[in-house]
Amino acid sequence: MAQRVQGTEDLFGGYMREWQNVCNIAGDLFSTYGFDMIETPAIEQVTTFVHGIGESTDVVRKEMFRVFSGALLERIFEQGDESHLKAKQRMAMRPEGTAGVVRAAVEHNFVPQGASPVKLWYAEPMFRGERPQKGRLRQFHQVGVECLGASDPASDAECIIMLMEFYKRLGLDASRLSLSINSMGDAACRPAYRDKVRTFILDHKDEMCEDCLERAEINPLRSFDCKNDHCREVMKQAPLVTDNLCDECREHYAQVKKYLQEAGVAYEEDPTLVRGLDYYTRTVFEVQYVGDANIGAIGGGGRYDGLMELEGGRPTPGIGFAVGFERIMLALQDAGVDISGEPEPCAYVANTVAELRDAAFRATLALREAGIRTEADYQGRSLKSQLKQADRYHARVCVVLGPDEVSAGMATVRDMRTHEQGQVPIEALSSKVAELIAR
Ligand code: AMP
Repeated sequence: MAQRVQGTEDLFGGYMREWQNVCNIAGDLFSTYGFDMIETPAIEQVTTFVHGIGESTDVVRKEMFRVFSGALLERIFEQGDESHLKAKQRMAMRPEGTAGVVRAAVEHNFVPQGASPVKLWYAEPMFRGERPQKGRLRQFHQVGVECLGASDPASDAECIIMLMEFYKRLGLDASRLSLSINSMGDAACRPAYRDKVRTFILDHKDEMCEDCLERAEINPLRSFDCKNDHCREVMKQAPLVTDNLCDECREHYAQVKKYLQEAGVAYEEDPTLVRGLDYYTRTVFEVQYVGDANIGAIGGGGRYDGLMELEGGRPTPGIGFAVGFERIMLALQDAGVDISGEPEPCAYVANTVAELRDAAFRATLALREAGIRTEADYQGRSLKSQLKQADRYHARVCVVLGPDEVSAGMATVRDMRTHEQGQVPIEALSSKVAELIAR
């Protein structure tokens, strides 16, 4: 039996409907904040991620799926390595959405200098070569937003407020969520801070793992989210970024917190929150689901004022977040929130004899043309089992076609809630069914 790839999921049935509801709630909310939808390719040049996410991150070093055509792979095997490949031949499946959106913004010059911020949202699959487990997949989905060209602390606060509103609209109670925030400084203050952390790691080198010693050279801040518990324990004594911010970053952070307080958004400050991607500057934030520790982070994001330049554009500030769809679904399940919504009202066309299939076919098309979701039986079932089928579809109205009615140009229309029924001329069928559904 053919099987799906480990760490991937098929989405169908009721789960898919819930999924679409989550997506619709996101779209409605984000559009009230002025965000438009964007879709970028699932494959990008490797450099897009290396420049943006950072060479020393686990996401780029260990988890990114590389893409080669069969012909290219053959050449790599022949030559022994991939050093002969051009940059554009080195491709990867996107592990996250921001780098691609920013690449697109640079390529199409979405954000001309001096223009108002450009706000974009997406709901797309992402790919990471992780060890699959609950809430951790190799193909997972993120719904995310990017606000490009916005430098004011109010945009940081707006993003966080919108994220928390999203969870609220999904039906996740604030008591089940924990929002952590931090400031990671900027180009002015982070280098000196990074040096301090490097010195700290090297002073504790006997207690740190090999990866962290390597990180100390390339990007020591990554040691704050080392997967090794002991390293994380040691890092609790490391200098804190919030004690090392420059005046501008401290002021920016203070403003963000002030706006959050004004909006009544509860948060905790976590000076060790560095997030797994290198492009963040200043504000970073993460939301954990409190109910079930295994679900973990259900969303996170931050400011990335240097990313446009890293992708080859003009210096342009930006901020965004991404929410893990699968983890949202797990959290909703854990919290007992039913997101399935009401089934869309529909009509069912039944026929009492197989010879009336053509009439049923025509009536079904006419109802659908009038915008009514309609199902029909073409399998020659008994009338009783067709009516059962209508119930299964949650049909509000059942149209029954019998030989006498059809030859008289009529149809029987049955209201499935009240069980009242009557005959209507075939030409008036759509308007009668629509009227009963709307009632
Ligand atoms: P990140 O891009 O790492 O900041 O992740 C943003 C959100 O995506 C996280 O908070 C998770 O909810 C979700 N996420 C990240 N990695 C995975 C994964 N491998 N499987 C499922 N969800 C994930």
